[in-house]
Amino acid sequence: MTHIVFTAMPASGHINPGAPLVQELVRRGIGVTVCATEQFRPLAESLGADVRVYPGNTISSQVIAEATAEGGSTRVAQRLLEATSALLADLQSQMRADPPDAVMFDSNALWGRMLASRLDRPAISLMTTMLVGSSAFRALRAREMLAALRESAPAVPGALRARRRLLRSADAELLPPSPVLPTRGDLTLFPIPEWMQGSDPRLDASCRFVGPTLDVTARTEESDPELENVLGGTDPLVVVSLGTLHTGGSSFFRACVEALGPLPANVLLVVGSATDPAELGTPPANVVVRRFVPQLEALRQASVFVTHGGMNSVLEALHFGVPMVVIPQQVEQLLIGQAVADRGAGVVLRHHLSRVDIPAEQIRASVDALLHEASCTASARSLAATLHEGGGAEAAADHIEGLLAGTPA
Ligand code: UDP
Repeated sequence: MTHIVFTAMPASGHINPGAPLVQELVRRGIGVTVCATEQFRPLAESLGADVRVYPGNTISSQVIAEATAEGGSTRVAQRLLEATSALLADLQSQMRADPPDAVMFDSNALWGRMLASRLDRPAISLMTTMLVGSSAFRALRAREMLAALRESAPAVPGALRARRRLLRSADAELLPPSPVLPTRGDLTLFPIPEWMQGSDPRLDASCRFVGPTLDVTARTEESDPELENVLGGTDPLVVVSLGTLHTGGSSFFRACVEALGPLPANVLLVVGSATDPAELGTPPANVVVRRFVPQLEALRQASVFVTHGGMNSVLEALHFGVPMVVIPQQVEQLLIGQAVADRGAGVVLRHHLSRVDIPAEQIRASVDALLHEASCTASARSLAATLHEGGGAEAAADHIEGLLAGTPA
């Protein structure tokens, strides 16, 4: 039996796009072992995969979220580089006796790329967002650039130290050419539509755009009558979420309550793990606050999505033809938001890029406009109509089988 190891970056936004692909590979009779943290064991097992859990104190969703809040993508890179040697040693010791036929890895899971080299196996990268290079920062205005620099500067020495340590280690010979993150493979699968990706000199024939790999049939088992009430209501539904890694801060969510509470709409405010819903006081009856929700189920009912512009969140909203107010927290999300706005399916509010609060009136005006401008919904729906042309998880599995057979699809 063909056997593929998938070394994940343990964060929802990085595991979710791989899940339908793992399921498709298993359906084709390929054995898949998912390497992740305990948090993702139930998901991986539900896909029919075996699970290997990363050793404690290496990397976790919480470590990644704290690094994001503390020093943005530079601090995240530091944590990933710091974890690489330990994760590589652990996986290598488990797999040396019976190596898999290929190693698939999240484009941030550098240890997976290095494992493939050490085992001399094909390397398959899952580029869970677009390929972003330093030129992307040209999209930032001076104030935004300054804010980004101020945030990442304290993280730079740690990131350089982690890189130097890796370069001095016995594993250095396995490192791909610089910049090592995001890491490409012999085959690099992009679960995004090609129009989301800007031009980049690193794009070549080994890069395949398959479009979103969404499984929208999955349903939560948990019962939450208040949430079900809001999702099943007759008033339009506005969903607000800044994803799983960015904190947003309680002031943002308070502004959302003030802005959206008076609208003739139901509002689902998803505040994430860093904000205590109690900090928002007692919201009006039409506003429901949760830390985490089954987002696909919420977006299926939504009329407007207020989002940070994470790649998964945006593609999920487009799948359901939902227009967006994109509030990017970092440069990549700005590019994603601009791609959506350029196609008429939303608007971008840039305040958080320069760490400025958004006035409640502006949040209200943006959401209200999208609730009433049919053209934005029509644009989101027309993007939905072509979103899956790349073939999604099935096309990705075809590419992988082609690579293994030596006949690239
Ligand atoms: N998600 C979810 N429930 C939540 C928040 C997020 O299921 O309450 C999922 C969402 O559907 C998406 C992923 O987590 O698949 C977040 O990925 P994204 O790239 O949008 O943002 P990130 O969290 O990585 O910044």
